[in-house]
Amino acid sequence: MMNDSGKQCPICNSLGGKHFSLEYYSKNGAINTSVYYCRNCGIYWREFPDAAIVDNHFQIAGYTDLKQEDSWKEKRFKFFTQIVGLLGKYDPGPEVHSKVLLDFGCSYGHFMDMANNAGYKCIGIETVDYLREKLAGKYETYKTLDSVKDNSADVITSIDSLYYVREPYEAMKQFSRILNTDGILLFRITNRVNYIKTKELFRKKISPQEFGDCMISFNDKSIRMLAQRTGFKIEKTIYREEKPPRKELLLKIGYGLFPYICEITGLKLTPGLMYVLRKVES
Ligand SMILES: [Zn+2]
Repeated sequence: MMNDSGKQCPICNSLGGKHFSLEYYSKNGAINTSVYYCRNCGIYWREFPDAAIVDNHFQIAGYTDLKQEDSWKEKRFKFFTQIVGLLGKYDPGPEVHSKVLLDFGCSYGHFMDMANNAGYKCIGIETVDYLREKLAGKYETYKTLDSVKDNSADVITSIDSLYYVREPYEAMKQFSRILNTDGILLFRITNRVNYIKTKELFRKKISPQEFGDCMISFNDKSIRMLAQRTGFKIEKTIYREEKPPRKELLLKIGYGLFPYICEITGLKLTPGLMYVLRKVES
């Protein structure tokens, strides 16, 4: 640990110490950001850069680049098909037509296209202006959750987006406000805390690619805390993700073998975790 000046953990409010620095890229180059670790809930989090820098970052990220749109569509097709299948399983009621789905961080809108084909009326939240403008006319889209009415969605999906927000509690409370009674929230997060901790233990440097461009590196404990404090019940944790075949051995093991080990042991080892949550109170 470099020093222990202490910052308040965005999940449990305990004091966390600074563990390392990481570069964060935007249009104007890289800046150094501090990453903290909370011993109580076990998350790593990055000190949030200026909003303008984060905005700039999203404009140059690979997953918002229009030139890479087709490749992303292909890469995520199986995974999105799996998620649409999960909605069919957990979303209450037999009549999917007339149901509203809000996709938080919808990017190109590929998931909304698939949910729309399955019968959902979709609302997209996207912070990048040119992506939102591209989707306007096709879907109702907003820059922030504030613009969405109370009790107006049956399902909210947040696929690899919750870890980008500055205030995860606020986002979860907004999800709860927007969802109808019994509505479901399905989200996916990365699960890299154990990997980062192991590297720290062996005094290895953690690269920006390994940490990812997230603000919060969640773990299962922190998700349980978030859910409980914002009026959600966890219905299901999903380990198995339908992804394109991985070439690297470690990833093959992570996505191929770990899901089975997790199911048997309850250990959360997979590189990503998906959760199905149900709103239990407003
Ligand atoms: Zn904490």
